[in-house]
Amino acid sequence: MAKTTTDVKTTTQLQAPRTWDDVVETGKRTDIPEGLWLRCPTCAAMVYRKSLEQNLHVCPECEHHMRMDADTRARQLCDPDSFELMWENLIPVDSLNFSDLKKYKDVLASDRKKTGHADALICGKGFIKGRGVMLACMDFRFRGASMGSVVGEKIARSIEMAVEQNLPLIIVSCSGGARMQEGALSLMQMAKTSAALARLDDAGGLFISLLTDPTTGGVTASFAMLGDVIIAEPKALIGFAGPRVIANTVREELPDGFQRSEHLMEKGFIDRVIHRSDLRSEISRIID
Ligand SMILES: [Zn+2]
Repeated sequence: MAKTTTDVKTTTQLQAPRTWDDVVETGKRTDIPEGLWLRCPTCAAMVYRKSLEQNLHVCPECEHHMRMDADTRARQLCDPDSFELMWENLIPVDSLNFSDLKKYKDVLASDRKKTGHADALICGKGFIKGRGVMLACMDFRFRGASMGSVVGEKIARSIEMAVEQNLPLIIVSCSGGARMQEGALSLMQMAKTSAALARLDDAGGLFISLLTDPTTGGVTASFAMLGDVIIAEPKALIGFAGPRVIANTVREELPDGFQRSEHLMEKGFIDRVIHRSDLRSEISRIID
C-alpha cells in the first residue's frame, strides 16, 4: 500500500495479537513461503507451518531461527497492543533517478506493496514486560533492509525521542548494508545515526542492539555495533563483507562458525547470544 505525506497520520496503531493463534491468523506478512508445510533450511525437517509460527518462527527440530518481518518482530517483543508506529509518513525519494535492471522508483513501489510499509524499518514506542521502550525493527523483505535516507532518518528520530523521553532504545538489526540506489545519501546515514547515538550516550541513555540474521555492511559498520549492550540471536550471520569476499582477499581458510553469533561472542565482538523465546525477559532484565 503506497502512502503519501498528505493522507497518513504520523502515528498509527500496529494491531497486536492477543494469542499465538492470532499471530497465525494475522501473520500473513512473513518471509516463509505459502503452504501448510515447509522445510527447515538447516536440518531439512518438514515443519508444520502453524507449529513454526506458534514456536516464534524457530524450528522445533534444530532451533534454527528463521527470518521474520518487522511487524511480527515488534509483536513478538512488545506487550499486546502496546506498540505504536511512528513516522510512517516518511517516504524515500529517488534523488539520483537511479535505474539498473529496474527503476529504483518501481522497486520501491513493489516493496511497499509487499510489506505495507514505506521503507525497510518500522519504529515507535511500546512496552516490553511493562517497561516503556523506543523500538526500531528492520524488515529484510524491503530491499534487503538496506539503509537509505528514510531508514537512517527514522533511526535518528528514534534515538532523539529516546533522549527526550528518557526511554531505553532497542534496535533490531538485519540488513544487507547501505542502499546502493541512494549513493552517498545512503552512506551519510552511517555518520548521522552514529552521531545521534553519541548524543544518547552523553545523555546517559541505554541502547540495546539486537542483531539478527543477517546483519552486514553499513549497518554493522555504524549503529548496530554501537550498543551499550549488543545481543544476537543464535547463529545469525554478522559481518561487514561476506565470507567469500574475505576468504578471497586474505587467501586463508576461514574458521568454523566465522561471522556467526557464537563465534563473535567468543571473540568479544558481541555480549550475549539469546534464544528468541528468552528475548523479552532478557531485554527487560537488561533495562532494569
Ligand atoms: Zn530445523
